[in-house]
Amino acid sequence: FMNWDKPILTDSGGFQVFSLTSLRKIKEEGVYFNSHIDGHKIFMGPEESMQIQSNLASTIAMAFDECPSSLATREYIQNSVDRTKRWLYRCKAEMQRLNSLPDTINPNQMLFGINQGGTFADIRIEHAKAISELDLDGYALGGLAVGETHEEMYHIIEETVPYLPQNKPTYLMGVGTPANILEAVDRGVDFFDCVYPSRNGRHGHVYTNHGKLNLFNAKFELDERPIEEGCGCPACKNYSRAYIRHLLKAKEMLGMRLCVLHNLYFYNTMMEEIREAIEEHRYASYKKAKLEGFEMKEEN
Ligand SMILES: [Zn+2]
Repeated sequence: FMNWDKPILTDSGGFQVFSLTSLRKIKEEGVYFNSHIDGHKIFMGPEESMQIQSNLASTIAMAFDECPSSLATREYIQNSVDRTKRWLYRCKAEMQRLNSLPDTINPNQMLFGINQGGTFADIRIEHAKAISELDLDGYALGGLAVGETHEEMYHIIEETVPYLPQNKPTYLMGVGTPANILEAVDRGVDFFDCVYPSRNGRHGHVYTNHGKLNLFNAKFELDERPIEEGCGCPACKNYSRAYIRHLLKAKEMLGMRLCVLHNLYFYNTMMEEIREAIEEHRYASYKKAKLEGFEMKEEN
């Protein structure tokens, strides 16, 4: 249906199930939960998650894990991480089985393991060491950006990443702002997913190299400039802030679409710049200049 001939990543459903706090029950075999729509009982375990992702034939499938609350106790997190580890062995075995079947749509589907452990660095490190031994295609840090401070998150990334394989991609799930990405890359993270560019775009919040703008702000009412001077995105090449603001105020869908287009273009361009800066061994100065730009407010 998507007509998308490029890589696709699917999540395991773990995070989504665990966000239904009052509706779910976690057991060794998997998770029982009630549909938030009609209440009917559903079971999902590691095998079910791998089967669904195999049917979707994504490029990368994520392991089925538990994402515990940021408020959970150390004891809870330790038990949860131990179970997540046992689930990972089951995910790997099931993925291998599925990939070997003759009618599997994508028999080269990759599996990424997910590191958990809340903000307990020692639990994170032990878990990272254990899952690294499975020689998976890549590894993710999960359960971050769920309520802890940015400094706590950076600290955990810094502590954990050295214990994940350096020759495999490292993925920080659900993060984040442009500044979060710059800081995480500095600590060894390779890739990201986040709703910010699209969700914020739908609310008229657009990212620029001089910080974020809220296009609903009255000061943009007669502003003939594009969202960002020099931006090559379809929104900036064709439309003014004033016009996009008008579309947003009039609740015209095009306003949201243009903001989302610009934001995705902005994030994608930043990732290109990051790769280039790393290759040219000037990441530290690139990051510094970029972060300083975000702090600078543009002149009106
Ligand atoms: Zn633009």
